Amino acid sequence: MSIRKHCLILCLTLSILTFLGCVSFGRSQSDFLISLPIDCKLGKDCFIFHYVDTEPSSEAIDFNCGRQTYNDHTGTDFGITNLKAMEKGVKVVAVAPGKVKRVRDGIIDKLIVDQTDKDEVTDRECGNGIVIDHGGGWETQYCHLKQGSVLVKPDTQVEKGTPLGLVGASGLASFPHVHLTVRHENKVIDPFMGKEAISGCKTDKKPLWEAKIDYQPTGLINAGFAPQPPKSVELWEGKFLDQKLSKNSSALVFWVHLYGIIQGDIESFTLIDPKGKVIIEQNKPVKRSYRNWVTYVGKKNTPDNPIISGIWRGKYQLTKNDKVILEVSQEVEII
Ligand SMILES: [Zn+2]
Repeated sequence: MSIRKHCLILCLTLSILTFLGCVSFGRSQSDFLISLPIDCKLGKDCFIFHYVDTEPSSEAIDFNCGRQTYNDHTGTDFGITNLKAMEKGVKVVAVAPGKVKRVRDGIIDKLIVDQTDKDEVTDRECGNGIVIDHGGGWETQYCHLKQGSVLVKPDTQVEKGTPLGLVGASGLASFPHVHLTVRHENKVIDPFMGKEAISGCKTDKKPLWEAKIDYQPTGLINAGFAPQPPKSVELWEGKFLDQKLSKNSSALVFWVHLYGIIQGDIESFTLIDPKGKVIIEQNKPVKRSYRNWVTYVGKKNTPDNPIISGIWRGKYQLTKNDKVILEVSQEVEII
């Protein structure tokens, strides 16, 4: 056999081994793998609002060295758009097979807005919740389920995907979501980092997710029009989603609700009247980073400058480093 042929065979063998090595590495990331705890399409009708805080100090840093978490947050929050979506019912499901260990139900769904609300849920921060024992020292906890929705009892055997209840806003929840905590031998594990990853976002990660989940630190929750500047809690409640507004409204406000806005991002708004005339065109840099962000532009209704009848259009773009990372347009009919 010629040296050239030898080389070719050796190179081919090496490439195959490398390929197999990569594949097997990808498949054996963890001995315990999990699926999503919520029955929805991520990025479409639900989103990850908070990740686990991977930083032991008072700083809050997620697994990707981003800021979409808060100090000492022990789980991953899967959010839904508003209380109206919650009322329709979004299932919380088991992430892996196991046996139900503990269950709580009966706590009302109420969005936390101030300290009094917080004090009311002391020692019941998880709200209506479930703990599942998966064996091998692994357990998962699901929090903030909808009052009266819990479907399982202690000792119930569950499979991956078994419905446990519905997404709610019970306990310490300022928006409707399910909080998932994963523990191994009583230690909190970030499912994006894995059991072996030591604290800090720069370590090697062996995620527990059986299907890869892309890191999405910024995203759209909803957009619409209102007759006044909306408050965050009103948008979480599902207000200001009307397709039609009265021409007698005191103002016309185009609003956008986002998560994970970062200082330095640029927001661009356009508001166009029914005749196609641009009424507002505005670019503004984001002055501070926020995990939850309500932003808007609008015009007052005055005799000299009325809100005319017809279809109004609002356009919004979020730009980071000269690249558009988010875009939304919305219409409303003024009648
Ligand atoms: Zn949480």
